[in-house]
Amino acid sequence: MTKYFNLDGNLIFESSEGNGWEEWVETEEGTLNCLIGDIKVDKDIDVTILSNLKARTGEPRYKSLAETRKYIESLPKWNKTKYYTKMTDIGSSGLVDSKTGDVIDSGFEYDLQPHLIIKNNNVSKKEQCAICGEQIQSKVPLALFLFDCYAHSVFRPVCDLCGEKYAPILAKMVSTYYDKKNIATEFKIQD
Ligand SMILES: [Zn+2]
Repeated sequence: MTKYFNLDGNLIFESSEGNGWEEWVETEEGTLNCLIGDIKVDKDIDVTILSNLKARTGEPRYKSLAETRKYIESLPKWNKTKYYTKMTDIGSSGLVDSKTGDVIDSGFEYDLQPHLIIKNNNVSKKEQCAICGEQIQSKVPLALFLFDCYAHSVFRPVCDLCGEKYAPILAKMVSTYYDKKNIATEFKIQD
């Protein structure tokens, strides 16, 4: 079941498949386009971050912007955080008060860049990449992990492609380590 909330006129949804937000824009022909984005709740600084807006295909649920606004107004208020921020292609909304809609800090920018680290790993198992969800076999004894102090599991493994994309230098260090290790085993070098 999906639950819908109103965050200062923005529609937030929560479902078993994931959470996000929706926004509607009017096209030149006067029809409505639905955009859908990700949300992240940062409890430490009491902010909900609305980001990564993408066009969504599917039937338009509303005929006009006024209709969508009326619907959102009828929803329960999103009260999980005192503040929110919206980060889209146009830029950042700054830090906004969830209740009043007042901009508290116009220069506020949330860091959504994933932080990767090299960490020792003692079990090789099939897992999902923390960023793209791809199935991976984690390497022992060293691997790249996503560090997220707000997630249920602070260190989660990432795949090679995401490593190269978000932390190319660390990814190179890990691959060099395994290349050297392979050469060492091939020639049976003793340490
Ligand atoms: Zn990945």
